[in-house]
Amino acid sequence: MQKAAFTRRVLTWYDKYGRHDLPWQKKMSPYRVWVSEIMLQQTQVATVIPYFQRFMETYPTVQALASAPIDDVLHLWTGLGYYARARNLHKTAIIVCDSHAAIFPKTVEALEALPGIGRSTAGAILSLSHDIPATILDGNVKRVLARFEAVGGWPGNTKVHDALWDVANQYSPKKRCRDYTQAMMDLGATVCTRSRPLCDECPLSSHCKAHLNDTATQYPGKKPKKTLPVKQTLLLLIHNKQGDIFLEKRPASGIWGGLWSLPEFSDLQTLAEHCKQRLGFDLKSIQPAESFRHTFSHYHLEITPVHAKVTKQKTVSKSEHLWYNVSQTLGLAAPVKKLLNEVFDDA
Ligand code: SF4
Repeated sequence: MQKAAFTRRVLTWYDKYGRHDLPWQKKMSPYRVWVSEIMLQQTQVATVIPYFQRFMETYPTVQALASAPIDDVLHLWTGLGYYARARNLHKTAIIVCDSHAAIFPKTVEALEALPGIGRSTAGAILSLSHDIPATILDGNVKRVLARFEAVGGWPGNTKVHDALWDVANQYSPKKRCRDYTQAMMDLGATVCTRSRPLCDECPLSSHCKAHLNDTATQYPGKKPKKTLPVKQTLLLLIHNKQGDIFLEKRPASGIWGGLWSLPEFSDLQTLAEHCKQRLGFDLKSIQPAESFRHTFSHYHLEITPVHAKVTKQKTVSKSEHLWYNVSQTLGLAAPVKKLLNEVFDDA
């Protein structure tokens, strides 16, 4: 299909059926588009909307975000997962304020140099907020284009990835770039859906190779399967006399980096001894609870919560350790939050 016909069909469809009232489409700015795009990575629109609204109420500008403590930002992110996104958001806000006078750069290259911003996010920021011609290739757009041109293979593979970028660049228009970007995202999210594409309602169906061959759901190709390894860990819930729970801050890198967590141990037999050595507590009434599984992208973590009491309250420094009760706002990893909720809901 000719580029002009492709974009005309997509834009005509968008004018009639596209989404025009998403929260980040109001008062559109690079800051609002950027925050929404980062939240939308790996997360559905319906889940993102309340998070986005709370985030904008708390941090209406990039300056407000840059000057916020990272703990507060992580707290606001709790439940969205993939916390590296929140840490990169904070780092980028500081760089934009310190090195770009609080104005987002206007080129793909300069945007891509910022933490957490890839080529597609840079394209979305430029096209959506400035109507500048810039290509996007997020998960939804990859699906539409892989089907339309029958580009086989898993998009995580470099060759497939490059082929999809070529197709995306080939069809990206020079005019109405904002609408085209939103239209392609919407088409992927609402019509060319993962398991049941609504080809009868699609403006591209007459030329879509996958549709014409009745093979739409075979595109894009799936990631080659591998079995995830299972790792074991113990998360220790130390209760003091007041009913507070001891938390420690995780190192900035690694899983749950920078978040507040329960102390982690590897072995129940040596837990009391290692806890004494590492944290200085004499534990009493050590009680393991039922294990549960938390899955990361590269492995499953089999978590056994272990409850214990201390008789002597240790003074702790807020920067690394603290006694937690529900009134505090902290960035917590999802399984830690779940365990703390169980403790305080039962209290
Ligand atoms: S015709 Fe079907 S498979 Fe092809 S782009 Fe449209 S919805 Fe997707």
